[in-house]
Amino acid sequence: MRVLVLSGLRPMTCLALIFISSSPCVGQSKTATDINNESKIILEWVAKTYDLTIAWQNVSYPIETKYSVPRILLKGTQVVPLPALEATYVCNGTNPTPAKVNELLFLLVPELAKYPPSFVKKTEMTKIILARNLTANGKPVGGVAPPAFSLFLADVEKLTVRTNYGVQAIHHEFFHKVDHRIHRDDKGVAMAANHPLWDANWEKLNRPGFAYLNPPGGGAPPGFTAEPTDKFPGFLSRYSMASLLEERAEVFGYMFSNPDFVEKRAKADPVVKSKVNRMKAILKEYCPEMDEKYFERLSTERNFRFVALPDLSGTPKK
Ligand SMILES: [Zn+2]
Repeated sequence: MRVLVLSGLRPMTCLALIFISSSPCVGQSKTATDINNESKIILEWVAKTYDLTIAWQNVSYPIETKYSVPRILLKGTQVVPLPALEATYVCNGTNPTPAKVNELLFLLVPELAKYPPSFVKKTEMTKIILARNLTANGKPVGGVAPPAFSLFLADVEKLTVRTNYGVQAIHHEFFHKVDHRIHRDDKGVAMAANHPLWDANWEKLNRPGFAYLNPPGGGAPPGFTAEPTDKFPGFLSRYSMASLLEERAEVFGYMFSNPDFVEKRAKADPVVKSKVNRMKAILKEYCPEMDEKYFERLSTERNFRFVALPDLSGTPKK
């Protein structure tokens, strides 16, 4: 989840789906005629390149999910099952105007083009839903990535107010989908934080004694902003301290949206550097095309695109 100013909810962590109580959406409408021709070409390009639908019309809200988190406790080599943790997420919103969709697509798609197609396809993501007035459990959010669905939702109004925020939010939400894949066992069951396959290596990068907030019952205290800062040693933002999954999404998001900031922080802060290196290792293992050369290009090429964007020259806007 990507919060606007304050974190709103407990992060979307390792949760196994029990049931989906309502249809997440109707998908791309047959009448996408209200967006401009460039946007139509872009939507086709995204579908062809990434097997990904960007839906913005006729989406039915609320999108509601109920989860049961399987939990175990590790005592040495002994595995002790714990009662499952039940949780419900309700995402609400309304359908955006075509004008705002046009605007967001020109923000979103050049960012998507930084990803190798295999990276996107491995997430099993099928859809990005563009919304306005987006909320998660009643709290306004810029984006939310429910782990039970192969999609994430993005608020076109909030993400286009400030470009930097919007770009970071897009990458942040996308990484949640990657992490949902990473933190599943071979049967597709989401893992709890004390599961042996959980990425304990990440937590070990923090200073001794540090604990993520992991607020019980959702929510985070005021001040947990997602702004980039050097105020918190070892972390790129205050929001990164909310939970392991939120921090990983923040690190990934800033590596893609603000590589200069990440490089500067990594040079001055060995913990940040170790997290960036760990993220690179995770990504290379997840998608071999994301190797040293890939990250070199990401940090040095101003308009880095792994996949060339469609040529829109000569396309009438209307
Ligand atoms: Zn998040």
